[in-house]
Amino acid sequence: MKAVSSVVLLAAIGITCIFTAPAFADELVVYSARKEHLIQPLFEAYTKQTGVEIKYITDKAGPLLQRLKAEGKNTPADLLITVDAGNLWHAASEGLLQPVDSEILQENVPANLRDDQNRWFGLSLRARTIVYSTERVQPEQLSTYAALGHDVWKGRLVLRTSQKVYNQSLVAMMIAEYGEEKTERIVRSWVDNLATAPFSNDTRTMEAIVAGQGDVGIVNTYYYGRLLRENPDLKLALFWPNQEQADSGVHVNVSGAGVTRYATNSEAAIRFLEWLSSEKAQNLFADANLEYPVNPRVAPNPEVAAWGTFTPSPFNLIQAGERQGQAIRLMDRAGYR
Ligand code: FE
Repeated sequence: MKAVSSVVLLAAIGITCIFTAPAFADELVVYSARKEHLIQPLFEAYTKQTGVEIKYITDKAGPLLQRLKAEGKNTPADLLITVDAGNLWHAASEGLLQPVDSEILQENVPANLRDDQNRWFGLSLRARTIVYSTERVQPEQLSTYAALGHDVWKGRLVLRTSQKVYNQSLVAMMIAEYGEEKTERIVRSWVDNLATAPFSNDTRTMEAIVAGQGDVGIVNTYYYGRLLRENPDLKLALFWPNQEQADSGVHVNVSGAGVTRYATNSEAAIRFLEWLSSEKAQNLFADANLEYPVNPRVAPNPEVAAWGTFTPSPFNLIQAGERQGQAIRLMDRAGYR
């Protein structure tokens, strides 16, 4: 609708403008909270295949959402790419994304990894799982996230700060599953078992375990993959918790995207989004950051597949957003900093 009115406007100004104006459908503007080196190869591949030029800016999720909000109807952005369902949910609930009616996306992205109103779609999947020292822990000693609060892990657990959206989403999803009371008990038991104050990031968390400051932790899979690439003899391994029949599976989250509410080129943005979810592009998108494809017809790359298979939690990631505030307050009460 917007493109049409722009064309009408240009026609009114004069026909020469039509030839000097950019071709509407052949250009896309992307705001990305994914780092440039992870997305730029995708943009290049898409341009090569379709001729559509992609302009982009990258920043952290917070500033990008602020920017979209401030720009309102004047935003040049057609597509927002960001990590964590919590952030995608925020963008949607702030009214920054528009619903997309696409059979291709419905088919390529499992229902629990996308918005129920089709305002955002997961494009790659990461697990937030248990990591342990292969020198001091036997995998048989591990079972669930909750069990990291048992006495055997007293003074041995290392965590990343509760300020990070990844942990907020993890706890939000636990609230969805167990309710607030039980989740608070679990989080308190983790805090009681901490070996040291929480770390600023997942890599530091793992380095602390390697250094012997603690023995077990919770991290996103791709950070483990990066560390393993740097050091193939890494004395750490991943463990897939909550795999028994009665359990819900490993906590997973996504990076994903949505078409901006005031996109000039929404049709082109939808086509690009569909392409990102396709068999052709899923490995390009996921492999760049050692993540899992969301499209169930696409296998993860061998490096990622080598970590083994697991049952992921089937809970809808919308909960990560809806219960985020609740999760933050709960962690605060539990003394998790
Ligand atoms: Fe990350």
